[in-house]
Amino acid sequence: MGRLRWQVAAAAAVGLAVALEALPSVLRWLRAGRRRRRREVLFFPSQVTCTEALLQAPGGAGPPGAPAGCPCSLPHGESSLSRLLCALLAARASLELCLFAFSSPQLGRAVQLLHQRGVRVRVVTDCDYMALNGSQIGLLRKAGIQVRHDQDLGYMHHKFAIVDRKVLITGSLNWTTQAIQNNRENVLILEDEEYVRLFLEEFERIWEEFNPTKYTFFPQKKRSH
Ligand SMILES: [Zn+2]
Repeated sequence: MGRLRWQVAAAAAVGLAVALEALPSVLRWLRAGRRRRRREVLFFPSQVTCTEALLQAPGGAGPPGAPAGCPCSLPHGESSLSRLLCALLAARASLELCLFAFSSPQLGRAVQLLHQRGVRVRVVTDCDYMALNGSQIGLLRKAGIQVRHDQDLGYMHHKFAIVDRKVLITGSLNWTTQAIQNNRENVLILEDEEYVRLFLEEFERIWEEFNPTKYTFFPQKKRSH
């Protein structure tokens, strides 16, 4: 009887040791299961809010509150634009942008900020829109960001971004103040391996197709007139 009790105690001790050994990985597994992958939809037009707190925060997206001494008279709360900025400013390694129109100064500043922080930024855009007044593309190029564009008859009409090869941002929104403040638009923010992979593949395909070494000096567009 005494021996049996000893055996039970020994088995319990071994069980406890094994359980303790496995505890960290079990906790990790539980935490991973509980952490919901990001799924968010933003609707526009966005309320006009101050985005200085986000764009001035060193090293990352700051709280949506007012930065110290912000002299502006705009509300300092959250908006669809501030949430879009947050999703972009979360980038730590890479940002792919595939955008028909890009003239929003706030989004332009966010992209430049990421570039300054060492995030690898690549931009694909439409050659017609990028030449218009107010386009951010020239500023991005001046800042040293890689930009490629089409030379086709059809528009490069995508509006998507990929953050850190992990989060896809896509929808109807052109990155213009006009669209952000006036249009009814939607933007999905998805943390989804499969969609990110498909959009990245398409980005790489377009990126190669728009390689400047493949440009011709007399593109179809000019000849067709
Ligand atoms: Zn402000």
